[in-house]
Amino acid sequence: MLLGKPLTAWCNEYPLLNELIALRETSWFNPGVADAAEALADVGLTRADVDDASARLARFAPYIARAFPETAASAGIIESGIRAVPQLQALLAERYGLSDSGALWLKQDSHLPISGSIKARGGIYEVLKHAEELALAAGLLKQTDDYSVLDSDTARAFFGRYKIAVGSTGNLGLSIGIVSARLGFQATVHMSADARQWKKDKLRAHGVSVVEYACDYSVAVAEGRKQAGADPYCHFVDDENSTSLFLGYAVAAQRLQQQFAAAAIRVDAEHPLFVYLPCGVGGGPGGVAFGLKLAFGDAVHCLFAEPTHSPCMLIGVHTGRHDQVSVQDFGIDNLTAADGLAVGRPSGFVGRAMQRSIDGYYTVSDEELYRLLALLDSSEGLRLEPSALAGLPGMARVLSEQQGYRARMQLTPSRMARATHLIWATGGSMVPAAEMAGYLAKGRQLLQAEPA
Ligand SMILES: *Cc1c(COP(=O)(O)O)cnc(C)c1O
Repeated sequence: MLLGKPLTAWCNEYPLLNELIALRETSWFNPGVADAAEALADVGLTRADVDDASARLARFAPYIARAFPETAASAGIIESGIRAVPQLQALLAERYGLSDSGALWLKQDSHLPISGSIKARGGIYEVLKHAEELALAAGLLKQTDDYSVLDSDTARAFFGRYKIAVGSTGNLGLSIGIVSARLGFQATVHMSADARQWKKDKLRAHGVSVVEYACDYSVAVAEGRKQAGADPYCHFVDDENSTSLFLGYAVAAQRLQQQFAAAAIRVDAEHPLFVYLPCGVGGGPGGVAFGLKLAFGDAVHCLFAEPTHSPCMLIGVHTGRHDQVSVQDFGIDNLTAADGLAVGRPSGFVGRAMQRSIDGYYTVSDEELYRLLALLDSSEGLRLEPSALAGLPGMARVLSEQQGYRARMQLTPSRMARATHLIWATGGSMVPAAEMAGYLAKGRQLLQAEPA
């Protein structure tokens, strides 16, 4: 029984659940999507909130440039590039049997400085926001100051009285741990069993306390929340509910708008933009999608990608039960090589806030993630961690859908021919070489084993 109903009744009411429980790759285009103007009202946050986050990151830029010299070239702004991936597009067209439609691009959050994943957006932003609040309240800082004053022994001694804690499958912990430790905070990261050893090692090398759990992400978050809640000096970064994290991610869209302008890429009703976002708990893709909807309105179409073993957001939105249900409730194990997406219960906040803004959801098998890892390497010479490959099949799912989605959205063939498809590549540049070699070997082997 689940929420008063037997599983068979759930599957009768939502036949898609049968596909998900059988771990088959699935796509679902949400018929409940609304116009941006209407859907964005669900969020409870506005453009002014994103602008505020953007301005805060600009205030911190001098500090970031000094504390993390790898950001000096971008003057302390933590941002990633976009690049066209025509060779990958050709391979994907062949693999999935697509006729040519639009242009395929990659957003390289895999190469964001400091922590090498999309978490360098939200995670770092929330720590900076908290540091600013503390420093302003203590009179250590004024908003008009050059924030590089925070890179001082005085500031570090001040922040050293405070703690920051977070629960994570790896990358969020990495982002928050590294920046917290650099500011001087006592940082604790509660790591789920999925977290890769190298991420734990790297954090410990930065002086961060890592607490390891034999359980999954939800347990690590709950334990972290409980331990932090008892301590008034401790700020808990709540990945399941935080609006700060969400806004940190949302800033990406304004910058993407500038990058598109510089690359002469048009986005409007006649030139639709599709964005494929790997989804774990939902904060990262949800925040980015929120920013994208503010920036591009109805011209942008966002799809979330999840592993077949962890389709928590798809189930939450499809059933309308959000964080009331987990994948485990349906007998799905939440065991996946895509450690960044190994989340069994979605954010209730993001699911509800974004349910009328996200066009669709799809699942990808672990084996396909590995194959795509090898294909991206052979076609473009780019290497990502398994989670970050989940965006690659998105274009094919849109082009081959038979659910009436393109017709409903008035995505005519001529509009599709002018479309831009953007894969959000969410992580991977910091994966140690030996680990990456293992991923590649596995992907190549799986490709070879495929029937011709
Ligand atoms: C965390 C993460 C995601 C998804 O972000 P959520 O906020 O958990 O939905 C995607 N890719 C990678 C590599 C990640 O680390």
